[in-house]
Amino acid sequence: RVPFLSVRDLKVHFSTEDGVVKAVDGLSFGLERGRTLGIVGESGSGKSVTNLAILGLHDRERTALDGEVLLDGRELLTAAERDLEALRGNTMSMIFQDALASLSPYHTVGAQIAETYRKHTGASRREARARAVEMLRRVGIPQPDMRVGDYPHQFSGGMRQRAMIAMALVCDPELLIADEPTTALDVTVQAQIMDLLRDLQQEFGTAIIFITHDLGVIANLADDVLVMYGGRCVEKGGRAEVLGVPRHPYTLGLLGSMPSLDGPVDVPLSPIPGTPPSLLAPPPGCRFHPRCAFAEKVRDALCSTRRPLLEPVDGHGTACHLTAGQRREYFADYRAAR
Ligand code: SF4
Ligand code: MG
Repeated sequence: RVPFLSVRDLKVHFSTEDGVVKAVDGLSFGLERGRTLGIVGESGSGKSVTNLAILGLHDRERTALDGEVLLDGRELLTAAERDLEALRGNTMSMIFQDALASLSPYHTVGAQIAETYRKHTGASRREARARAVEMLRRVGIPQPDMRVGDYPHQFSGGMRQRAMIAMALVCDPELLIADEPTTALDVTVQAQIMDLLRDLQQEFGTAIIFITHDLGVIANLADDVLVMYGGRCVEKGGRAEVLGVPRHPYTLGLLGSMPSLDGPVDVPLSPIPGTPPSLLAPPPGCRFHPRCAFAEKVRDALCSTRRPLLEPVDGHGTACHLTAGQRREYFADYRAAR
C-alpha cells in the first residue's frame, strides 16, 4: 500500500558555475493523512530543497529532479506546472519562515485569503470574504471582522504568521508543508503558533511536514521524525524512538545539545565538531564520516568507502555501518562522557 505522500529515491541536483550540487541525493519517506513528520537537520542538509521540489517551486532551469513523488497516487515530479498550480494552495499548501514574503503588501490580508479561496473554489466574493473572516477567527486573530480589512504591515509578526496559516488552510489542504514557520518569532509566540498548528491538524486532519533545525519543536509536534544530513536521510522513525533511542551518531550528537525534551521550545542544535559536507564533492561512503566519532570503530574502513543504506524502510531505521551491539556500547560511553 502506498502512503498518502510517498517519496522514493528523490534526487534534486542543481547546476552551478562550480559543478553539480547534489542537494538531495536519494531520499525516501512516506506520510499518512493526519500525521506530522518532522524533518530536522542543519542548514544545507536538503530539508527545504526537498519540500520545494515536492511543491514544484524549485528553479526549473537549473534543477534536475529524479525519483518519484506520489501525492494520493498522483505523480508530482513530472506534473505540468498548470496542474501543480491547481494543487498548490488547494490540496497542498505551505507556510514559510517569512510571512511578509508570502503576503503582498498591496492588498489587505482578507482580500488575499479570499482570493486564494475564490481561485480554487469559484466561490462568490461575498462567500470568500466570509470565509476569510472565519479563517482569521480560527487562527486566533481578535476581532477578525475588523482586521480582515487590514494590510499586512498593520499586523504584528505573530499575527502575520497566523494570517499566512489562515491563507494556507483556507482550502482545507490535505498536505501542509511548514518550513521553519516559527523561527523568526519570539518563544512565546512560537509556542502559540505550535499549539495552533496542532489544533488545526486535529480539526482538519491535515498531513503536515514540519521542517526545522530545532529538536525542541520536533519533540513538541512531530509523530515521526526524519533526520537529514548532507542531502540524505540518516535516521527516521517514530518521535519517541528517534529522540529516545537514537541510532545514528549524527542524531546522537544533535540530541546531546538538548537540555531536556520537556524544556523550552527554543533549543538550538549544538555545534557538532566539523562542518557540513560540500554537496559539490560529497565525502565518499558515509557523508558523516569526516565528523563521526565512531568511524574508526567500523571494520574495513567501510565508513569512508561504502554508502550505508537506510534500513528498514518502515519503522525505526538508520543509515550507519555500526552494528546494534557496537551502537549500544559506544553510545552509552558517549553519553557517560558528557
Ligand atoms: Fe559514523 Fe560510520 Fe555510522 Fe557513518 S556509517 S555514522 S561514519 S559509524
Ligand atoms: Mg531551510
